[in-house]
Amino acid sequence: MILLKTNRELELMREANRIVAVVLDELAERIRPGATTHELDDWAERRILGLKGMPAFKGYKGRNGIRPFPATLCTSINEEVVHGIPSPERILREGDIIGIDVGVVFEGYHGDGARTYAVGDVAPRARELMAACLRSLDLGIAAARNGNHLGDISKAIDGCVRAAGFEVVRDLSGHGIGRGLHEDPQILNYYDGRRGPRLRSRMTLAIEPMINAGGWEVRTLEDGWTVVTRDGSLSAHFEHTVALTDEGPEILTRC
Ligand code: MG
Repeated sequence: MILLKTNRELELMREANRIVAVVLDELAERIRPGATTHELDDWAERRILGLKGMPAFKGYKGRNGIRPFPATLCTSINEEVVHGIPSPERILREGDIIGIDVGVVFEGYHGDGARTYAVGDVAPRARELMAACLRSLDLGIAAARNGNHLGDISKAIDGCVRAAGFEVVRDLSGHGIGRGLHEDPQILNYYDGRRGPRLRSRMTLAIEPMINAGGWEVRTLEDGWTVVTRDGSLSAHFEHTVALTDEGPEILTRC
């Protein structure tokens, strides 16, 4: 069931997602060659707590007895798609791209957002991949309108990514969000021909294309969390949490 949010719930979600946006904005100046993913994580945790939020991913339970996620941020470098675990041993190098996913709880409601950043100068193909991913997110959000169907979001993202010559990861998807970090519906980033449920005002959706420069196939590393591309190709990820309103989509993960 897709939960519609009250005004009060939307207010709390605005604040949770504002904190996410502040952290993602401020991370930009901390991402440079020589930084470790642990430093970024440590800073983000303190920043979130300082803004009266709580990290939403830390302690998040995995499936099938996998250890809970141990950190505030998911930090996924190059061929890592999502859910990379920060570590003092992961040092950013010039030319890397790093996807960072931030989840926040504020008074019981969730915010969720992600961006992929370039570390210094990156190759043109990496830039194109990031640009296509961001463009597909924008188009997905534009399709998140009262009266459209869920499949319209998937179709917009998929069409954009294919046109750019990249592939959409199929094993992972966007999601509804609210009191739960993951609520109904599941939002596919590829189009399977199904229209899906009708979209309505007061739905809140975390839309998050994950796209690969090579094939769409992914696998999970032995740490139980880190998802990587099967062929070792680069991957990018952008995410916004959006509230559907009568006036159109409202991006909540914005300062
Ligand atoms: Mg998400």
